[in-house]
Amino acid sequence: MDDEIRERVRREAEVAALFNALKHDSDAQVGAIMGPMMGENPEFREHGDEIPGVVSPVIADVNGMDREEKRERLGELAPERLEELDAEDEEDDQVLPDLPNAEAYDEIRMRCAPNPNGPWHIGHSRMPAVIGTYAEEYDGEFIVRFDDTDPETKRPLLWAYDEILDEIGYLGFEPADVYRASDRLDVYYEHARQLIGMGGAYTCSCPAGEFSELKNGGEACPHREKDPAVVAEEFDAMVDGDYNSGEMVLRVKTDIEHKNPALRDWVAFRIIETPHPREEAAAYRCWPMLDFQSGVDDHLTGVTHIIRGIDLQDSAKRQRFLYDYFGWEYPEVLHWGHVQLDAYDVKMSTSTIKELVASGELDGWDDPRAPTVMSVKRRGIRGEAVVDAMTELGTSSSDVDLAMSSVYANNRELVDDEAPRQFLVRDGFEARGEGDDESYEAVEVPIDGGPDEATPQVHPDHPDRGDREIPVGDSVLVEVTDLPAEGDRVWLKGYGPVRYDGERFECLDADINIVREEGVDVVHWVPGDDNVGVRLRTMDGDATGYAEPGFADQSADTVVQFVRIGFARVDSHSPDESVAYYTHP
Ligand SMILES: [Zn+2]
Repeated sequence: MDDEIRERVRREAEVAALFNALKHDSDAQVGAIMGPMMGENPEFREHGDEIPGVVSPVIADVNGMDREEKRERLGELAPERLEELDAEDEEDDQVLPDLPNAEAYDEIRMRCAPNPNGPWHIGHSRMPAVIGTYAEEYDGEFIVRFDDTDPETKRPLLWAYDEILDEIGYLGFEPADVYRASDRLDVYYEHARQLIGMGGAYTCSCPAGEFSELKNGGEACPHREKDPAVVAEEFDAMVDGDYNSGEMVLRVKTDIEHKNPALRDWVAFRIIETPHPREEAAAYRCWPMLDFQSGVDDHLTGVTHIIRGIDLQDSAKRQRFLYDYFGWEYPEVLHWGHVQLDAYDVKMSTSTIKELVASGELDGWDDPRAPTVMSVKRRGIRGEAVVDAMTELGTSSSDVDLAMSSVYANNRELVDDEAPRQFLVRDGFEARGEGDDESYEAVEVPIDGGPDEATPQVHPDHPDRGDREIPVGDSVLVEVTDLPAEGDRVWLKGYGPVRYDGERFECLDADINIVREEGVDVVHWVPGDDNVGVRLRTMDGDATGYAEPGFADQSADTVVQFVRIGFARVDSHSPDESVAYYTHP
């Protein structure tokens, strides 16, 4: 090979190595680079024998650079490849459709407006996932506003406020501002008084049924033409708590003959006698309806784009009457469909989950069977895996299905490289749902003739992380389904081949080829004496069993992979047993 060819090989290899390493965010591999390079440059082929010797040091150099250095070097050698890379990145990142009319606003500001009547079910995480992603894409921001203005039928749960904010953090986002509507009643009263002054609202004492009948017939009730001064007085009496629930409401004057009856003179304020659970708001009795409260707040807090459910299309239409009175511009609105979730028996509904927790059928909001954010978090699923699955659903107005398998696939990519490998032999199963008849049994088998210790790797892709040290002792435990027939062999993973004589394992002298060539099964196991009792909590029930001794040293929150079983998050250790939550296969 002459110097010119050598230089060209070196250069081609370096560009390819830089491109691959940046694209996959990992070390470049000789094999992945040689093939395409030889394909594109047939004149290199006659030097096939010498080429690896030239390429290897180039790749080693590339793998020694940090990301910035790689980008810089690729920009020098082949600026067009760097552009190609950035274009691909952009495509990958933009999973959501463009926001409507975004260019009309200096800064995009969106809002997540949860009702804190419970912690979030998984479907709720769609809003922060999507608006948090939009905020990043548009360099804008989002706010959280707790729409907690119904202390009776959607009674807030005091600890849910902070829990929801924690869950947004878990998903990887931070709101620019946090508001509680129950702190803002005076703001709503002030706007109601302005509206009354404009003749845009009236106090109405019609029994609900009677008003409905009039309204459905397109007829005004006698209160509609009341003098604004009287309305103002009666509204003050509502605020002062002079009426009982149902005696008086404040209605927005819209169009009593509007073709959509739901928009005709809707209720803006009503009396709720049940005190709000927040001390700061406990004295109020006159509460705004959601359409009034959120309509006023969206304007006052500078929201530019609203996303809400397709079933709430009337909200924007009702609120436009308010906006017209006040002379405000209505924000851009997107309506999206519902998310349906597979894999759970429990319905994805806050009230259902709340009842099951209250009755003790669920152990809590983070029970593995509960379709909640608290539960997936406890199982060791990262917020990022949920966010990616949610943004992939887009913002379509049709109902969409979220497959938990796609959350699991995302999460596996995030945790696999870190997760230390561990052995767990299951020995029992306590079903908690209906129709789950899984069972496990461990058998203890004496073992002879092998080394005292097994040293399987901490992680098969990372030999540098070292080996685990598992003392074998006089016997091992295996799951009964892994026990070979009398006279047959198995390979105890990380230890070696044994033959089962019907009572004992006898260690054999054979190499790993028997697994591939002779079909010997590889099974997991733990020492008969030195092991750790484990309860593995799954969506179907609790599996109990024994882990290798080192499991006791895995700190809480670590996600491990139980070999041949799946990933699990270490939850707690106690002298009686260690608890882990099953993440996914
Ligand atoms: Zn009336």
